[in-house]
Amino acid sequence: MAGAADKSATSKPLLDIHVHLFGTGDGGTGCRISKSITEGLSPQSLQFRGLVYALGLEVKGKTLDQRYEEVLTEQVKSSGLAMAAIVGQDAVYDRHGKTDWERTSFYVPNDHVFAVASRHAECMIPCPSINPNRADALDELERCHGKGARLFKIHPPTQGVDVGDPKHSKFFQRCSDLDMVVMVHTGHEHSAPVIDKDLAGPRRLVSALDQGCTVVACHAGSGWKSDTPDQLPKFLDLLKRYPKLWGDTAVLGSAGRVTDFTRLLANPLARSRLLHGSDFPFPAAPLAFAKQLGDELAQRLGKEKNWLKKDLDLKEALGIGITSARQAYDVARIGEGK
Ligand SMILES: [Zn+2]
Repeated sequence: MAGAADKSATSKPLLDIHVHLFGTGDGGTGCRISKSITEGLSPQSLQFRGLVYALGLEVKGKTLDQRYEEVLTEQVKSSGLAMAAIVGQDAVYDRHGKTDWERTSFYVPNDHVFAVASRHAECMIPCPSINPNRADALDELERCHGKGARLFKIHPPTQGVDVGDPKHSKFFQRCSDLDMVVMVHTGHEHSAPVIDKDLAGPRRLVSALDQGCTVVACHAGSGWKSDTPDQLPKFLDLLKRYPKLWGDTAVLGSAGRVTDFTRLLANPLARSRLLHGSDFPFPAAPLAFAKQLGDELAQRLGKEKNWLKKDLDLKEALGIGITSARQAYDVARIGEGK
């Protein structure tokens, strides 16, 4: 129970800090998804088609881009969350800082992120994506900040960027000056083709942290039991050294992450530094947590139709959902002046 001193904390709204925007570009949004994700029989393409079906994205007379925005908005509004941070996905860039479409598996342009977030400003905030390898990375950072973004994301293993490379120090210094929260994917990726899994190692966050940035290690360095190397201990180690480092709980409600989520929850420091994130449209799987929650509760949670609510309810049943969603709202600095 929260005491009187915690009253302001307990009345804060709830934020899901990690909700993906996707599109095929059929609605003129500029989004792209490679054929390795949409076609064929790879686990990723089967997952993509499963999501399109389960979310009801194929509707006559509507583009998939348009339909995704509709479904996402409906889900956010009926989730019990006040807001969601809508995450974009920058491209891969070559060594000259030019876009490398060949190696870009999916792309969600920042202008689309801003357009969707402004159409639904009552329940969404923009989280653009900036690959520091792009030639105009600093300009794009200023532009996004000027348009009101207070956080942005980098996805090293799919964008082929080493955030630990000293050449990015200036970029992170500017992030720190602007107070832009830096969200970085850490841990093992299973939903998109990976260029180099080593780029997802939490140790690479040190450069941004040393520049004074607030950093959110998305997925908290987690992976499946079968993934090697185990990147989670490094995340735990960095938490002790850097008070401005956080982790998010995106995709931790899925079946493959039960072990690592349990490890994080068993660590008091990690537990206190987790921010709520769903990783929508990748759904939580409450049944996978039957051992922790009991069959009856796990089954009840599994019946929830709203995927964002299902994820939040699962994490609340595990003891951190609401607290970590309030904390996410705080770290994202929603409501502070531009
Ligand atoms: Zn994600």
